[in-house]
Amino acid sequence: MIIENKMSHIRNAAAIAQGDADLLKSTSVLYVEDDPDIREQLSRYLERRVGKLYTAANGLEGLEAWRRHKHDVVVTDIMMPVMDGLKMAEAMRLENPSLPIIVVSAFNETEFLLKAIDLGIDKYVIKPINTELLLQAIRKSAAGVKADMEMRLAATVFDASSDAILITDSGNRIIDVNAAFCEITGYSREEALGQTPAILSSGRQDAELYHALWENVKETGRWSGEAWSRRKNGELYTEWLTINSVKNNLGETTHYVAIFADITEHKQAEENVHRLAHYDVLTELPNRMLFIDRFRQAVINAQRKRCRAAVMFMDLDRFKVINDTLGHSTGDLLLQVMTARLTDCVCQGETVSRLGGDEFAILLPELSEAEDAYLTAQNLLEAATVPFMLQGHELNISASIGISIYPDDGVSAETLMKNADIAMYRAKEEGRNNCQFYHADMNTRSLERLAMENSIRHALEEGQFELYYQPKISVASGKIVGVEALIRWNHPDRGMVSPVEFIPLAEETGLILPMGEWVLQQAVAQGKAWQVAGFPPLFMAVNVSARQFRQDNFAGKVGQVLLESGFDPHYLEFELTETTLMTNADENIETLNKLNAMGVRIAIDDFGTGYSSLSYLKRLPVDVLKIDKSFVSGVNDSRDDAAIVAAIIAMARSLQLKVVAEGVETVEQLEFLQTNNCDEIQGYYFSRPLPVEQFEKLFLEMEAVDNKLRVSL
Ligand code: C2E
Ligand code: CA
Ligand code: CA
Repeated sequence: MIIENKMSHIRNAAAIAQGDADLLKSTSVLYVEDDPDIREQLSRYLERRVGKLYTAANGLEGLEAWRRHKHDVVVTDIMMPVMDGLKMAEAMRLENPSLPIIVVSAFNETEFLLKAIDLGIDKYVIKPINTELLLQAIRKSAAGVKADMEMRLAATVFDASSDAILITDSGNRIIDVNAAFCEITGYSREEALGQTPAILSSGRQDAELYHALWENVKETGRWSGEAWSRRKNGELYTEWLTINSVKNNLGETTHYVAIFADITEHKQAEENVHRLAHYDVLTELPNRMLFIDRFRQAVINAQRKRCRAAVMFMDLDRFKVINDTLGHSTGDLLLQVMTARLTDCVCQGETVSRLGGDEFAILLPELSEAEDAYLTAQNLLEAATVPFMLQGHELNISASIGISIYPDDGVSAETLMKNADIAMYRAKEEGRNNCQFYHADMNTRSLERLAMENSIRHALEEGQFELYYQPKISVASGKIVGVEALIRWNHPDRGMVSPVEFIPLAEETGLILPMGEWVLQQAVAQGKAWQVAGFPPLFMAVNVSARQFRQDNFAGKVGQVLLESGFDPHYLEFELTETTLMTNADENIETLNKLNAMGVRIAIDDFGTGYSSLSYLKRLPVDVLKIDKSFVSGVNDSRDDAAIVAAIIAMARSLQLKVVAEGVETVEQLEFLQTNNCDEIQGYYFSRPLPVEQFEKLFLEMEAVDNKLRVSL
């Protein structure tokens, strides 16, 4: 019974002491006591419980020891020869006013106790010493020291942060700001104190944003996002803003802390790239990329609202003749006037886009009847046939239009556009100045899909997939520094099938999960095999699709595969598209951080085709940007593409990301990229994706002619 009680007492004590143990273990204590027996006894007790224990036999010894070691806490007797404890305490306090000193004294030493109070000493332990009480006093003192230290650290961070920090009380009055705040906003600390953050108000955001922001802070204690503010000199700036609420232990908000970085320059670069990438320079109409994006949105919307949507492709007849005979400047002018006429024919919310050359696309996102599309098409054709008076010439032109309707002619933007294109060619064949609806046999298509799904499943089981490897070359050294693994389907009847034909379907049906796992296993096993064979280390890039990336515990599965293969994670790189990264970006961060912690690198694939907020990308642990091949292919004949590629490279530099250009096919493209300081290139110019043996052969050959190659680069 007695033993039982004692055990539970020990267990309780152990549980409470658990948290304190760490604190005590990092505390150094000076213990000053002249009585050798007491000193010895208490030392033995303390030694086991605190980080470091020093002892001294009188005040003078204690003072000297303390000056050398600066112990965190001092425990001292009062009555001692040579120098008493209070004199010593007084001397120490002179040098460190916040030094915790614990005085041990007897009841009858009232006079000394009063003196100790004068000295500001607030902890006493009465003799005979209760060791647990003493330990508690030491712990409290140590906690004070630690809190002090943390305060000082926080103050340093506050002062040194390059992000602006602003602290308000619960009534939203500014009570402190740091140096970066003054630098960014132009307000001095004195000017800011006592004001509300409204002094920074830009007037560019509606009340709704603020409302949503504060709702979120109230609910979750936190908000972050992009916002506009105004400097003292009136200038607007864009910031990445994070607001946190600080609560007391009753759960009431006592303060708000706002932290922001000035991202104006990044935003401008981003907007520039965005504009170049999404609008046609000549007509200022949305380009193909933006059109496709709006069309996808329209399809989602039509699905929800159960309405129809139409896409039309419009091609000008005989435009080429005008261009060739009257020159490009007349052709350009005609396209501009035509643009104005076409935009007049559509209603608000409908889009006219220039796909390129003399091709336009029109999106009608909400239709009740397919016939409405026909009426619009008639108006467009009429507008196109009104004679143009340009530079003294009267020009007559006509157009052909192909129409496809959601959901009648397809349910994905890709299919619908393809069908509108087919319809347009039919319209041209029918004679010009004509519009055609698409006619399709949807049944055959869905049957084809089903058959395809089954044969992918079958192919996985039968091992019909194979990985090809395409080298990535360092522009600086001319050497192969990595490969991208690209899947191929070795179809028994159809031969090699390209992934563009089966990846989208695999993604839709979920078959991408087993397929992706196979790709990863295969790629790292190959990477390991090359290392074992004595190849210099090569980066192995693996494409990861959205669905794969978002599956449960993706990072864990990757870790498992890496472990089994023995491949060094630092040489594994995942290529993810912008869209994959930006959809549910907050949730992705967790997975990305896990991968990052394992050492796996992240590349943004097809960069430039999506809608990344660069300031957001900056916060993701991303290492590499891959410029989409559609831009690379145009660098030598499209000024837009050249500008986009140069801007992307410059931006990547400023974000300290590596830049890889894909789809490099010509020496002119290579030279452009070289001049603009691109890091790595990949493309047919060097090599197509190759089966293992052929890649190995190429690699060894390149190593052999290394020098020659360097000259040619
Ligand atoms: P991607 O990731 O953008 O891969 C680059 C594609 O560009 C590859 O097509 C490659 O063969 C092609 N390419 C390389 N150099 C040139 C060039 O100089 N000119 C041109 N015109 N094309 C070039 P591929 O192998 O047909 O792959 C197409 C897409 O399929 C890939 O695009 C990727 O999104 C997807 N994919 C391929 N393998 C996998 C895989 O294992 N998993 C997943 N999830 N997706 C894959
Ligand atoms: Ca890729
Ligand atoms: Ca790509």
